[in-house]
Amino acid sequence: KSVFAERMSLLGTETAFEVLARAKNLEAQGKDIVHLEIGEPNFETPKNIIDAACFALTKGYTHYTPAPGIPEVRETIAGYIRNHKQVEASFENVVIVPGGKPIMFFSILATVNPDDEVIYPNPGFPIYESVIRFVGAKPVPIPLREEKQFRLDVNELAQLITPKTKMLIINSPGNPTGGVLTHEDVEAIADLVRGKEILVLSDEIYDRIIYGNTHPLSIASLPGMKDWTIILDGFSKTYAMTGWRLGYGVMHQEIADKISQLMVNSNSCTSAFTQMAGKEALTGPQTDVDRMVAEFKRRRDIMVNGLNSIPKVSCLLPEGSFYVFPNFKSFNRNSKEIADYLLNDAGVACLGGTSFGSYGEGYLRFSYANSVENIQKALERIETALGKLK
Ligand code: PLP
Repeated sequence: KSVFAERMSLLGTETAFEVLARAKNLEAQGKDIVHLEIGEPNFETPKNIIDAACFALTKGYTHYTPAPGIPEVRETIAGYIRNHKQVEASFENVVIVPGGKPIMFFSILATVNPDDEVIYPNPGFPIYESVIRFVGAKPVPIPLREEKQFRLDVNELAQLITPKTKMLIINSPGNPTGGVLTHEDVEAIADLVRGKEILVLSDEIYDRIIYGNTHPLSIASLPGMKDWTIILDGFSKTYAMTGWRLGYGVMHQEIADKISQLMVNSNSCTSAFTQMAGKEALTGPQTDVDRMVAEFKRRRDIMVNGLNSIPKVSCLLPEGSFYVFPNFKSFNRNSKEIADYLLNDAGVACLGGTSFGSYGEGYLRFSYANSVENIQKALERIETALGKLK
């Protein structure tokens, strides 16, 4: 008999971590690799946040905290949600967890039964499908198409909703496409699910990394939606804090209580001084965020222009996050094959579109959270390598 529990065969993974490990292996063998595979800002965490963490360590924030977080930090997050997303929230609605990812795992674990249906974006963040399968539910992908700027098609969504639909996952701005739902899209989605006892898991982790003038609309701010939405957000991307492991969910108090119970059963709590650093991130100066977003925008333009100048490649201009999802269909090869070729032959680490679901076939994902110098180096290498393909 197997050492492993049967449920492990249902669990997927995030390919970015696998490609990163392969790229590191190649580096250990002396190869020069440009890393465009992993979604993490190459900036340092802003100094005021680091200082706040160090100060908290000297002030005794070295112990357990309540499972859902330190009350004053939960209150700060609730205030931020009210101001920034126009969602009426109080501290009881907030659960602080180690990174944004646990909110996916915990909210699905807490609310979705085997045989329930969960609708989720494809191409989309791979952990959604992984956790849906893990709990024995039925994954129902909603395609995101390039023709629609990788926004979901509301009419198509309407066709996928059944009496068994328990949850809808949306992610705007999106990973891997950079697509952003318009306010009309979000209102139409709310109109579709309202009154149907469908929970919406709204992954808003990139909602500060936007390049247009309109702020993304949180579905939880629309009438009747607050109690049915679980907002996933966190510090990893906005404040360049991926390694700190700090995120949170905002939801109905009864769901928050269940997620706290899952925290008691797994992590106990999120590290205390890290939570205090999060408080400083939200209440301190935001100039570093503005600087990083302006720099991402500059890199996005270089990346998109560079890709579009390569023969047979085309790339939409994404309006948010720090990814591009260019179309490589003219090469008549599957996307994983092209990604492997670029890693091994050109020293450019990226992900095949199918790492994000079947509708990602024909695309690659590059993260441009890297220096302009590296982006330019990668573009030159990609052009040369692709030129050699018949
Ligand atoms: N949601 C999306 C769409 C992401 O791309 C990521 C990270 O890549 C996360 C959530 C998780 O972020 P964290 O590192 O805070 O767990």
